[in-house]
Amino acid sequence: MTTPYPHLLAPLDLGFTTLPNRVLMGSMHTGLEDRRATFPRLAAYFAERARGGVGLIVTGGFAPNVEGWLSPFGGRLATPRAALAHRMITGAVHADGGKIALQILHAGRYGYSPFSVAPSRIKAPINPFTPRALSAAGVERQIRAFVRAGALAREAGYDGVEVMGSEGYFVNEFLVTRTNKRTDRWGGSYENRMRLPVEIVSRLREAVGRDFIIVYRISMLDLVPGGSSWPEVVRLAKAIEAAGATILNTGIGWHEARVPTIATSVPRAAFAWVTRKLKGEVGIPLCTTNRINVPEVAERILAEGSADMVSMARPLLADAAFVKKAREGRATEINTCIACNQACLDHVFSRKTASCLVNPRACHETELVFASVARKKRIAVVGAGPAGLACATGLAERGHDVHLFEAAAEIGGQFNLARRIPGKEEFAETLRYFRGRVQATGVTLKLGSRAAAAELIEAKYDEVVLATGVVPRDPRIPGQDHPMVLSYLDVLLGRKPVGRSVAVVGAGGIGFDVAEFLVHGEKPAEGTGPDLALWMKEWGVTDPETSAGGLTEPRPEPPARKVTLLQRKKSRPGAGLAKTTGWIHRASLKMKDVEMLSGVQYERIDDRGLTIRFGEKLEKTRRIEVDNVVLCTGQEPLRDLEAPLREAGVSLHLIGGADVAGELDAKRAIDQGTRLAARL
Ligand code: FAD
Ligand code: NAP
Ligand code: SF4
Repeated sequence: MTTPYPHLLAPLDLGFTTLPNRVLMGSMHTGLEDRRATFPRLAAYFAERARGGVGLIVTGGFAPNVEGWLSPFGGRLATPRAALAHRMITGAVHADGGKIALQILHAGRYGYSPFSVAPSRIKAPINPFTPRALSAAGVERQIRAFVRAGALAREAGYDGVEVMGSEGYFVNEFLVTRTNKRTDRWGGSYENRMRLPVEIVSRLREAVGRDFIIVYRISMLDLVPGGSSWPEVVRLAKAIEAAGATILNTGIGWHEARVPTIATSVPRAAFAWVTRKLKGEVGIPLCTTNRINVPEVAERILAEGSADMVSMARPLLADAAFVKKAREGRATEINTCIACNQACLDHVFSRKTASCLVNPRACHETELVFASVARKKRIAVVGAGPAGLACATGLAERGHDVHLFEAAAEIGGQFNLARRIPGKEEFAETLRYFRGRVQATGVTLKLGSRAAAAELIEAKYDEVVLATGVVPRDPRIPGQDHPMVLSYLDVLLGRKPVGRSVAVVGAGGIGFDVAEFLVHGEKPAEGTGPDLALWMKEWGVTDPETSAGGLTEPRPEPPARKVTLLQRKKSRPGAGLAKTTGWIHRASLKMKDVEMLSGVQYERIDDRGLTIRFGEKLEKTRRIEVDNVVLCTGQEPLRDLEAPLREAGVSLHLIGGADVAGELDAKRAIDQGTRLAARL
């Protein structure tokens, strides 16, 4: 095969069926599973991925019964009537040439529901509900529910099922003494503890016949104290194979683990080595997972023999045509998942439908459609940050004549700052993607060109889109003109040197990122991500053969600078950061001994540093002696062009930071730009 990805694109013969390639679309809850009314959207979402060439799709989790609910009234497959509704999904995927397996997910003690059950009555630290401990008959009932869900999935037209056996859910809970204190045949010895998954798989196989895919997601690395030992993992893998599983998929880390496993700061393919350890122990194909987001990395893993398949979930949200583009030699056109979690996991955890920061069409395929235009317009887009780029390329794709003005010498706006933060190197991929899109869609790009109102008026555009972004907010702190005071732009763009001790004023997203930037020493070369060995050492991840569960004492590198991070609010700094990643940012700075102060008032900045007031009534004073003070005090919209353009009667649209700076992030910027492009 003349392709840079021969291993990735090689078919996988499963005996009774053949997958066209080695890409498994990993299970991702989208929120569309929970109501039948949204099944047409779910079908369209999966069908688009099937057209994009993915080898095997795995749905988001469906509970086998009410006790297994992830949350009340969440997706469940327990009746023939429910199975009938799924035919819309399987039919759509098959019509587009794809294969799809349904994930059976029993939430166990992670169920956000009063009906949750578990091997023992032990509350999860991340859930307010305490599960009910199952009786022996109760355990039997759960197994029967798994088997029933598998048989119904077959009836519904699925090509297989995935049994969720990892991430600390029900099945995983039986395996370790941390959550299983039973003394009957389901607890005690490892043989007893692993009986549940083995029974589930063998009875499932009996029920569904030989020609049906059973993927078992095995927790290879629990990342919690008291997790499975490596010999236990190997023993379970062999037993699951013998019980009739077709593929073993990798699970990494319980949800309550205090080690990041999929965030953008986790190095690419950070856990492929774990799957590799299991190679040779079983004969069925092994699928590896976590932070595999580009075809080169997937190919390398397979070529090295670390696994037989790769699972990608979020990368398929970001680009439905990932496999197709790789196959057609268009890998540079892939819209890469930057592992931000902002529109996928963060949405799911706040009970909103998942989507994708870099691809707002994800899960909105039926509603966000780019129709070709009937009348071609001349449109100016001012500003090539995320908002302007999404809008300009969307408009041009639809057939408009688009002129994109950018004052800087390169596209990207603030993403050029974000990509400089250690652990956010992935943000550069979005700019690579848009560079290609600008060319492919025929946008006329004018770099180093600060658009003026007169020029835009004179050119008589049919529409003008202002995507001019933001400017830093002036905090008006006495003494802020002192030479020791820097803006985040000075720091991140390397415009000015920074001393060994620094006070960062403002603990929002940018304050946290600037602190992260400052505590790191020499930056790795441009384009390389974080170093895996160093990352494992910092977070205390180790070989499960030396320590059960793969956890050891974290040994972070000493910070490059002494940093103090301040805010006026009394709340905990970073409390407003994103749901699924905020804790990582907080833990990461804590590791580097960053001092975090809340409820302060800034008195003045002078030669001796920053003086603050604090205490209940701001009655106390403290001088923080530092070499530099960095201002990260929020942003204001930049819309100097708005008034003159409106006055001249120009048809005007504001998007991204130019529209509203508060609560601005790239998710909103790209979404707004994309939706405007679909409309104009
Ligand atoms: P901008 O990105 O500010 O782009 C505006 C563009 O307009 C600029 O390139 C500017 O040069 C250009 N421009 C202005 N005036 C003119 C003119 N007259 N003519 C021509 N061009 C003009 N967001 C997230 O969602 N997640 C993150 O993790 C994240 N991390 C960040 C980290 C840092 C360090 C920073 C600084 C920001 C981060 N953000 C993050 C915020 C995100 O980058 C912004 O929300 C987003 O870039 C806003 O997009 P925008 O297109 O509205 O504006
Ligand atoms: P921000 O999150 O609004 O934070 C601004 C900070 O400045 C706050 O800590 C605020 O806290 C402080 N502040 C505001 N006005 C001030 C004043 N007059 N004097 C002193 N302090 C003041 O904004 P940002 O950090 O500039 O980030 C901009 C946007 O980029 C954010 O909205 C965010 O969504 C996005 N971003 C996201 C990420 C991410 O990881 N998702 C990372 C970076 C940026 P007090 O008012 O309490 O002092
Ligand atoms: Fe990836 Fe972020 Fe999109 Fe989620 S929202 S799929 S993490 S790029």
